[in-house]
Amino acid sequence: MLLTGIGAQAASAADCPGHPDALGTSRTLVVDPREHPRIGTMQYPETLPLADHEVVLTFDDGPLPRNSNQVLDILAAECVKATFFEIGRMATAYPEGVRKLRDAGHTIGSHSQNHPLTMNRMPIERARQEIDDGIASVKAALGDDAALSPFFRIPGLMRAQGVEDYLASQGIQVWSADFLADDWRHISSSRVYDLAMQRLEAKGRGILLLHDIQARTVAALPRILRELKARGYRIVHVVPETPQLPATSTEPPQWQLHPPSENVAISHWPKIPNFVFAEAAILPAPSLSDLDWQDERSMTPAESLDHAGRLARGVPLPREAPWPRQLPLPLDGAATVLPVPAGNIFEIPEKSFAAIALASPRQQQTAPAGHETDRIAKLIAADSGQSRRTIPRKRFGRRGAPRLAGRGNGLAARGGRRELKHLVQVKKRSV
Ligand SMILES: [Zn+2]
Repeated sequence: MLLTGIGAQAASAADCPGHPDALGTSRTLVVDPREHPRIGTMQYPETLPLADHEVVLTFDDGPLPRNSNQVLDILAAECVKATFFEIGRMATAYPEGVRKLRDAGHTIGSHSQNHPLTMNRMPIERARQEIDDGIASVKAALGDDAALSPFFRIPGLMRAQGVEDYLASQGIQVWSADFLADDWRHISSSRVYDLAMQRLEAKGRGILLLHDIQARTVAALPRILRELKARGYRIVHVVPETPQLPATSTEPPQWQLHPPSENVAISHWPKIPNFVFAEAAILPAPSLSDLDWQDERSMTPAESLDHAGRLARGVPLPREAPWPRQLPLPLDGAATVLPVPAGNIFEIPEKSFAAIALASPRQQQTAPAGHETDRIAKLIAADSGQSRRTIPRKRFGRRGAPRLAGRGNGLAARGGRRELKHLVQVKKRSV
């Protein structure tokens, strides 16, 4: 009777009408939540007692008809049974979505009423309320208390001892996971597929956490199921024990992902599990704290970084780096060090031309010119060689120096006058 009952829930590939090559569901595992209250090696020592290459599919955060219905169709096409962790608020909004799960023979668990990502730090009374309300909402949607399994997944996997203790006291099993596919992040569906397969291959068996509300998951799921089939994986359907359906007989070591074996020597150094480093160069270990963060809305990259930064692995981090921040360079100071040359250094004032224009060459020789005229004359003289007067005479010898200087003086004086006349003429023409 027992075997018949379990067999009726499993759907082998051969029993999948219209899909002879379906993945199917290889067996049904009946568990006692009180005996194993916490499962999933991402957070707990125990996980489901699966054999190598056995996989349990779980979907969170629904129902959201647009995507959840597609997930149901994809699973139906492969005759695969899964476990769905439903949000109470979503179940109230889309009760028919929860009933579809039941009618398709999937397992239904709950996932809180409002999906708070703070159950690790909220008052236990509030956490209890979230749990109780979520259960009540899903039951109300189902209209059948027995259709809801005593399975619970904490939103964002934000576990807390008080929450776990309360759930255990209610006979409810806490489900973490053995691996994720990051399908709530802004990644492509092919990336979801890659992560699901890589992480599954690294552990060889376990509970895969997906989200049926995500379009990228809908897109990735058919390929994941096809590849599971191609690589020889088998789907296990998990249900809770009931008075009519006792738990599957298991041994405690089966609930360990890597149970100690008598066939393996244990005198060597502890072996580092390869799943830890299998992708270390590509992907850091998923941060549990931002799991499910992106349930209802899109998150900008900045928000994502900020969120991940503040709650890396559940540990609050400072918003800013603790070391001193670099101050901006004092660019304003550069102007005071190197002032722009004043414009009048290069200008000849207008009134100078007037003074020069009024003075004849004779007057320039006899009448003392104004201050500005003197300055112009000096500038012109310097330009035409007069500056040689500054050279010490002894450098030119006793005879040569005066003659040279005198000739230079005469040339400079004549040249200077010519320059002045030229300037005056130019000035007159341009007025
Ligand atoms: Zn969730």
